[in-house]
Amino acid sequence: MGELTSIERETVERASGEPMLDQVLAWSAVNSGSRNLGGLERIADLLTDAFAALPGALRLEQAEKVETVDSAGRATKIEHGRHLHLTVRPMAPVQLLFTGHMDTVFGLDHAFQETRWLEDGVLNGPGVADMKGGIAVMLAALKAVERSPLADRIGYDVVINSDEEVGSLSSAPLLARTAAGKRAALTYEPAALPDGTLAGARPGSGNFAIVVHGRSAHAGRNPEDGRNALLAAADLALRFDRLKRDGLTVNPSRIEGGSPSNVVPDLAVLRVNLRPRTPDIEAETRNAIDAMIAEVAEAHDVRMEVSGGFGRPPKPLTPEAEGLFNLVRQAGADLGQTIGWQASGGVCDGNNIAACGVPVVDTMGVRGGKIHSSEEFLIVDSLAERAALSALTILRLAGGAR
Ligand SMILES: [Zn+2]
Repeated sequence: MGELTSIERETVERASGEPMLDQVLAWSAVNSGSRNLGGLERIADLLTDAFAALPGALRLEQAEKVETVDSAGRATKIEHGRHLHLTVRPMAPVQLLFTGHMDTVFGLDHAFQETRWLEDGVLNGPGVADMKGGIAVMLAALKAVERSPLADRIGYDVVINSDEEVGSLSSAPLLARTAAGKRAALTYEPAALPDGTLAGARPGSGNFAIVVHGRSAHAGRNPEDGRNALLAAADLALRFDRLKRDGLTVNPSRIEGGSPSNVVPDLAVLRVNLRPRTPDIEAETRNAIDAMIAEVAEAHDVRMEVSGGFGRPPKPLTPEAEGLFNLVRQAGADLGQTIGWQASGGVCDGNNIAACGVPVVDTMGVRGGKIHSSEEFLIVDSLAERAALSALTILRLAGGAR
C-alpha cells in the first residue's frame, strides 16, 4: 500500500474483511426481477436487515406508480417494489449520496436463477455483478467508515431502488430529492470493464411510445374512407431513423397494432429509444420529434398521442465530476489499484444524479462482466478490492478532499 494514514489503513482493512461473498450468495438466491413484486419485497427485507448495521433512519419508501402504454394503446399504471432509503447524520458538514438498485433484468420466467462457480474465484449468477455485489461493497465500505474517527464529519443518504433496470421512473423523485445539495455521490454499478475501468461520460436516454389513431374501413369496398394507422407509424419510424446524427442514436424498436387483412388498421403503437450525448442535442431532438409528429399526423390525417420522454438526462464529464474521478483514481493508486475511466454508451441512475448538479462516480461496484445475460459473472476478489477503494474515497471526502 502507498500513502495511507493509520486511520485509512485500519478502515480499508476493515472494509475488505466484511462478509461480502456470503451476502452476494444470499441476495442472488432471491429473484428480484423488476416486475417480480414478491421477490422485491423479500430482497428489500434482507437488505433492510443488512443495512440496519448502519446508524440513522432506515425505511422502505412506497414506490410511485408509473404510467405506461400497453400494446392496445391504453395508458396503464404499473406497480413497483418499495425503495430502501437510509438517512444518516443530516446535519454533518459533508453530505454524500450512495445509490444502488435491488432489481435485476431476470424475471421469474427467466431460465437464469442460480449461482454457480465458473472457476475458482469467478461466480456466475443473476445480479452477482449488477448489482448485488455492488450493494455488498457499498455496505462494507460504510460499515468500516462508521467505525473510523472521521464518521462524524459525514452525513449521507443511501437509496437502493427497485426499478433501475426499467428506467427508475418510480424512484426518480426520491433520487432527485436525496441528491439535492450533496457534495458527491457514489453509485455501485459494476465497473465498465473487467479490469476495473470506470464509466465516465454517458449519453442520456429516452423511451417514447406514440399511439396512432387512424380510421378503419373495408379494405376492398371503401379503403379511401380509412386512415391507415400502421402506415403512419411506419412513416414516423422512418423519420425517426433520419434523426440519427453524431451525438444521437435512434432505435425504433417495435410497432404494435394492425388489423385483419381486409380491414384498414385504425391503431398502431410505435416504440422508440433515443440516446442524445448532450443536453443541447436532447432539446433539439425533443423539438424535432414534435415537428415530425405534427407532419405525419397531417400527411396521414391521423391523431397521435405521445407518451414517455427522456427519463435519463445526458451525463457529460463536468470539471466537478472530473475532480471526483481524480479523487477515486488517487485512492486507487494509494491502494495499488490502477483506475481509469472511459465514456460509456449505457445509462444508469448516475445520469439522474448528475442532472441534479452533483458530481457522481457511478461504477464503484465490483469487477465482473456479461451483465444482463446468463453469463453474468463476478470476480470475487474485487469485492474486497472495491470495498477498500470506496472506504478510502469516502474517508477522504469526509476529510474535506476536493
Ligand atoms: Zn445495474
